[in-house]
Amino acid sequence: MIGGGQLGRMMVSAAARLGYRTIVLDPDAACPAAQLANETITAAYDDREALERLAASVAVVTYEFENVPVAPVRALSHIVPVFPPPEALEVAQDRVVEKAFLNGTGIRTAPWRAVDDAPELDHAFLDLGGDCILKTRRLGYDGKGQAVLRENGTHGEAFDSLGGVPSILEKKIAFEREISVIAARGQDGSFAAYDPAENVHGLGILKSSTVPASVRPEQAEAASAIARAILDKLNYVGVIGVEFFVGRDGELLVNEIAPRVHNSGHWTEAACTVSQFEQHIRAVAGLPLGDPKRHSDCVMENLIGQDVERALPLLREADVMLTLYGKAEARPGRKMGHFTRVSPRSAP
Ligand code: ATP
Ligand code: MG
Ligand code: MG
Repeated sequence: MIGGGQLGRMMVSAAARLGYRTIVLDPDAACPAAQLANETITAAYDDREALERLAASVAVVTYEFENVPVAPVRALSHIVPVFPPPEALEVAQDRVVEKAFLNGTGIRTAPWRAVDDAPELDHAFLDLGGDCILKTRRLGYDGKGQAVLRENGTHGEAFDSLGGVPSILEKKIAFEREISVIAARGQDGSFAAYDPAENVHGLGILKSSTVPASVRPEQAEAASAIARAILDKLNYVGVIGVEFFVGRDGELLVNEIAPRVHNSGHWTEAACTVSQFEQHIRAVAGLPLGDPKRHSDCVMENLIGQDVERALPLLREADVMLTLYGKAEARPGRKMGHFTRVSPRSAP
């Protein structure tokens, strides 16, 4: 497992339950996943010697975040199977490549323009019209590396405020809601998608995911079909998170994809027999995918920064599953844990 954050930790736990040993590679010896892994290699993600040591000791390599350097991982994939495939990393790491890939697959996104300098931003802003969001092409997460440009505001500083790096301008979508589909593709091309979750963000960070989402069955079907098209096109193996905007007229636009287990899929551990973490391990290990049906309705909430103080009282509540990530310091904006409150499954 390349990367040792909380997503890695939850996958290590799922792998152990299926009888597998996991070696985690991460620069931080005390990272959340290292606390549970059978072994940790403490090294930078692009340390070729460390990656080769990892490759020599395992049957399969996977990763838990999308910013793993592509070149060393691609080199690794010639020695040992790497799932999801490095092409998925390449697509997901750069918002321009990602949007071009999606549109090229016939999938709608927010209208967008690549922006490489301030004059290009002026041009793109006029071209798109209305409120827009400027995002760095690479390395943004939890809403970092973004600036909102108001239709009638000034935007002279915006490009430099993000560091003057290659960026993308997206039209701001007046969405009715946000949903995500967590889907998986097996080594035999099999496909499984969980029910869409309805997601609420605060300051760019996921706050909660509710299942079922308030979408019509046809919309849920359509979102799942889009996820499937993405997985097939990438010849993908593993779990993916696909984030959508649902427009006022019900149209679905893909916001972004994450080639890994996804925060908005944490609820699956409490409301499905096979969680997204186990599903990912099954896929990369070449096992049959699990049935993604949910047995309960639920709401998952993140515990961010000082929210973690809510954890203890939650333990007294029935129907709440709490997960803490073993992080020592509750810095503002840092994901410390999450909990899922389940209730009997509603129809359908
Ligand atoms: P993540 O932590 O999900 O990887 P991120 O930093 O990659 O987040 P985005 O998913 O691009 O950021 O944006 C974060 C949130 O900002 C979205 O979930 C949505 O609420 C809002 N947002 C982003 N792009 C747009 C857009 N084009 N129109 C309207 N809202 C948007
Ligand atoms: Mg993202
Ligand atoms: Mg996002």
